[in-house]
Amino acid sequence: MIKNVLVFGAGSAGLMAALALKRMLPQLDVDVVRSPDIGVIGVGESTTPQFSAFLFEYLGISRKRFYALAKPTWKTGIHFLWGPRENFEYPFEVQLDAQYGDLSRVNGYYCEEEFDSVNLNTALMAQGKAFAAGPDGLPQIAGFGALHLFNPYLVKALETIAIERGIRFTDAKITAVNVGDEGVRSLVLMDGRQMTADLYIDASGFKSELLGKALQTPFVSYGDSLFCDRAIVGSWDRTNEFIYPYTVAETMDAGWCWQIDHEHSVNRGYVYSSRFLTDDEARAEFLRKNPKATPWEHAIKFRSGRLSHSWVKNVIGIGNACGFVEPLEATALMVTASQIQTMCTMLAHAQLQPSPAMIGLFNQIFSESWDHIRDFLAVHYRFNTRLQNPFWTTCCNETGVSSVQPLIDFYTENGPSGLCRHLLNSTFGGKTQFGIEGFLTMLVGMKVPYTNRAPILPNELAVFRERCNANREIAKRGLSVAEALKWVKHPGWTWNGDPK
Ligand SMILES: Cc1cc2nc3c(=O)[nH]c(=O)nc-3n(C[C@H](O)[C@H](O)[C@H](O)COP(=O)(O)OP(=O)(O)OC[C@H]3O[C@@H](n4cnc5c(N)ncnc54)[C@H](O)[C@@H]3O)c2cc1C
Repeated sequence: MIKNVLVFGAGSAGLMAALALKRMLPQLDVDVVRSPDIGVIGVGESTTPQFSAFLFEYLGISRKRFYALAKPTWKTGIHFLWGPRENFEYPFEVQLDAQYGDLSRVNGYYCEEEFDSVNLNTALMAQGKAFAAGPDGLPQIAGFGALHLFNPYLVKALETIAIERGIRFTDAKITAVNVGDEGVRSLVLMDGRQMTADLYIDASGFKSELLGKALQTPFVSYGDSLFCDRAIVGSWDRTNEFIYPYTVAETMDAGWCWQIDHEHSVNRGYVYSSRFLTDDEARAEFLRKNPKATPWEHAIKFRSGRLSHSWVKNVIGIGNACGFVEPLEATALMVTASQIQTMCTMLAHAQLQPSPAMIGLFNQIFSESWDHIRDFLAVHYRFNTRLQNPFWTTCCNETGVSSVQPLIDFYTENGPSGLCRHLLNSTFGGKTQFGIEGFLTMLVGMKVPYTNRAPILPNELAVFRERCNANREIAKRGLSVAEALKWVKHPGWTWNGDPK
């Protein structure tokens, strides 16, 4: 029976795991060991609504407290500068696979030329607004929403709350790992001390000290689908720039660049392929397009892929230690949260004695999750025709889309019919993070052509455009990020559902 758990690493993944174990399985002793000299990766700033639900619901962190500690801004979706359109919006809710009762087809068919303001959320994005205004002028903040988070603030906030909740930290570098039949036997600290536990959480980031190095778990590369393997990150202090309520994903010469707006700074990162661009060339392009940015000294190197198993014997990998796909859709913290919730549920169901079948199921779920994200991202690259240059031509010709090929074939024949959801469901057992909506938004957004085209009736198109206009009018009266921040910082502001 597992009685104590040792979390190796205190980046966002290790801290999230420690907080969840302590809250969901309070009978466990939870220790964290981390090296302040090595520090944390320092990127991981754009999130999805699932991550906020994990913080505020699953971990029970008060939003008032979290906002004071981590100073987040809001992310209503992704603003793509991608494909032949000037731009398009990817929100966190259904827009294209929905249908107005008086129209004959789903929304996707009416978005051939104009593709914006299909619902209130995308209308708000198009107007640069974070929230609609209520009758009292207050921001209408529904649900938890997704956040932009400055990674060092997020890590500090989680650490502060972990200490308050009685989680013990040891600051030390692990220099060796003893292994045995049970998996990991002990961790050896730089001063020679050893730490042991019944269960080890490998949250050591890309180093993957336990699962990867000590237990030699094979790596499954996504290099056939995702060619980017480097990032140059830089930021500048905000002066009078507008705070965008979304992450921007901008096509670049050999990859793409994010823009993430924090309250007091603007963060940009160029994700590129070292096969097509040297670090110096990437830095030059990054600076040409972002002259105010101060880039980090070194490019971050990464590989997209996952370990073949994320739970091996007495070690569970969480976060970058067991898998990572490049950050275009900002999926890492979402998957991390999902891994941790599944782990805690499984440990609880197994009464802290997990069986091989339970461990096998964990591995299956997260192998499929990562593979699915790879396929979704691959579609972004396969059909982005914005630039014709060696990188993008290679992406359009060679990006492997593996298990979503049937869905693409259906789309290129029939267009944005949501019926292709059945192809997606059969592939992924009905459990996908993005759902058919994500695929439709990217395929319509990138104007991927299809053959069976029935003309859109002009009167139907007029009705549809009228609805979009109505969304636009409501959105214009909405609140920008800066305006909404003023409200939530007001001492009298209360968050619905916050623990007292
Ligand atoms: C370019 C890029 C952009 C990204 N953008 C996003 C994004 O927008 N959204 C998102 O969700 N994710 C993003 N990610 C992923 C992001 O890095 C993770 O979500 C995240 O921050 C989790 O990191 P981690 O805790 O796994 O690792 P880390 O932050 O690297 O933490 C590792 C921990 O292990 C400790 N450690 C390592 N070795 C030792 C040792 N020998 N002894 C003791 N301690 C040790 C370190 O000190 C540290 O505490 C991005 C990643 C990259 C590369």
